[in-house]
Amino acid sequence: MINLVLFGPPGSGKGTQADKLVNKYNLIHISTGDLFRHEMGNNTPLGQKAKSYIAKGELVPDEVTIGMLRNKVEAHPEAQGFIFDGFPRTINQAQALDDLLNEKDTSVSALIALQVDDEEIVARIKLRGVTSGRPDDSDESIIRNRIEVYKSETTPVFDYYEEQGKSHQVNGIGSISGIFERLTKVIDAL
Ligand code: ADP
Repeated sequence: MINLVLFGPPGSGKGTQADKLVNKYNLIHISTGDLFRHEMGNNTPLGQKAKSYIAKGELVPDEVTIGMLRNKVEAHPEAQGFIFDGFPRTINQAQALDDLLNEKDTSVSALIALQVDDEEIVARIKLRGVTSGRPDDSDESIIRNRIEVYKSETTPVFDYYEEQGKSHQVNGIGSISGIFERLTKVIDAL
């Protein structure tokens, strides 16, 4: 199995690249952001719980997020591997992911971080907000809060996998196909 963690700040292009990678490597794409938006769209209890955090640009509590992720992984016993996009975002989530994959006799193959600077991120997310209809994409102070949360709570996950020799960095600025090529180089060398 290949299990990839696609990592990087909000707006760094994880979703765009994940869509291309699933085709090439035949993996299941799990985006916790997409899962939350689906739950919110259907106004489920989980969606209602997530909504207040997402609207403020804060992380949804780990117990909610980890349970949802586990259900999604367990729904795909046939998978040849997964791309985790937007997960793990805390050390707690990383440990839960390792436990879950361990139970399935597998593990994280690599974490690949897309590097994009703050000002580029703010510009990209604002542009996305024009068409995405996402309230968390349309307010600059919320966007900046998401970047701060990423720095304080999520970047330690890079170091966590770095200690296991699994973390890689890729320049996330350039054309979609150029960045995709950089990613495939890292994956093909695993
Ligand atoms: P982006 O990467 O552009 O911030 P996402 O779609 O990945 O967007 O996530 C949107 C929001 O959903 C996040 O700001 C956060 O509130 C919530 N969320 C997504 N994934 C997680 C996670 N793993 N843990 C906690 N909250 C999450």
